[in-house]
Amino acid sequence: MDKRVVIVTGAARGIGHGIAACFARKGDIVVIADLDASAAEQSAGAMTAAGAPESVGLRCDVSRRIEVEAMIEAVLACFGRIDVLVNNAGICPFVDVMQLTPEVWQRTLDVNLNGAFHCTQCVARHMIERGEGGRILFITSLAENVTGPAQVDYGASKAGLRMTMAGFATALGPHGITCNAVAPGMILTPMTAFHWEQPENAAFLKTRVPVARIGTPEDIGNACVFLASPEAAYINGITLRVDGGHQAVCY
Ligand code: NAP
Repeated sequence: MDKRVVIVTGAARGIGHGIAACFARKGDIVVIADLDASAAEQSAGAMTAAGAPESVGLRCDVSRRIEVEAMIEAVLACFGRIDVLVNNAGICPFVDVMQLTPEVWQRTLDVNLNGAFHCTQCVARHMIERGEGGRILFITSLAENVTGPAQVDYGASKAGLRMTMAGFATALGPHGITCNAVAPGMILTPMTAFHWEQPENAAFLKTRVPVARIGTPEDIGNACVFLASPEAAYINGITLRVDGGHQAVCY
């Protein structure tokens, strides 16, 4: 069988990088699509070192339809197929809702929600035409269900992303394409390092998360690899929470 081709958006760093590395270790061809072309290329180099038979880093702002179309055309020109898409690119400005400008609100929705719509629709068209099914994953957040004053834009985007995933699951299931979400809990990445590197926040996390540690990008990557595997063929339209039990706690 041909090697699978896996696109991970926002994979130059953080969770996306960890997800891509988990697919690379399984021997998949990995495409890193990110805002910064040189960071994407550097990340792709690390994927080859991790075990990917081939990898490529491409610039793509997922909020811009024209860039998404160009990225997908480039992948098809290079590898001829796309088997797995992971919609990971996301931003979290952490601005209190009463100070949030309309522009920041719009950008959060454009990247986190509209970006996943653009990538999913374009990739799904290719998958349907090829007729061999596929797997599409959405990285949401615990914020798809719970939120706070500085995450109103973010929570709205992630709740919308969950329903976007569910809607695509209904549309694409008949074509053998499954859609599922992975909702990370507290994961140490450049997005969150400023918070968790403060000792009092790290201590709070250990009391709050039942497994008593912060999550790693690979914790999320391993869940993605499972949902993209043949063993997960009958799982469609769900969110898999990967949070060390954080959201199960009621105190
Ligand atoms: P991160 O460290 O900030 O990494 C995000 C990556 O996405 C960066 O490489 C960033 O590029 C890229 N990116 C941003 N906007 C983009 C765009 N418009 N098009 C393409 N790429 C773009 O964030 P992370 O913590 O790894 O988060 C990854 C995903 O997990 C996000 O969807 C986030 O909401 C979700 N998540 C994270 C946590 C957590 O605890 N970390 C928890 C729940 C959910 P630049 O560096 O150039 O900006």
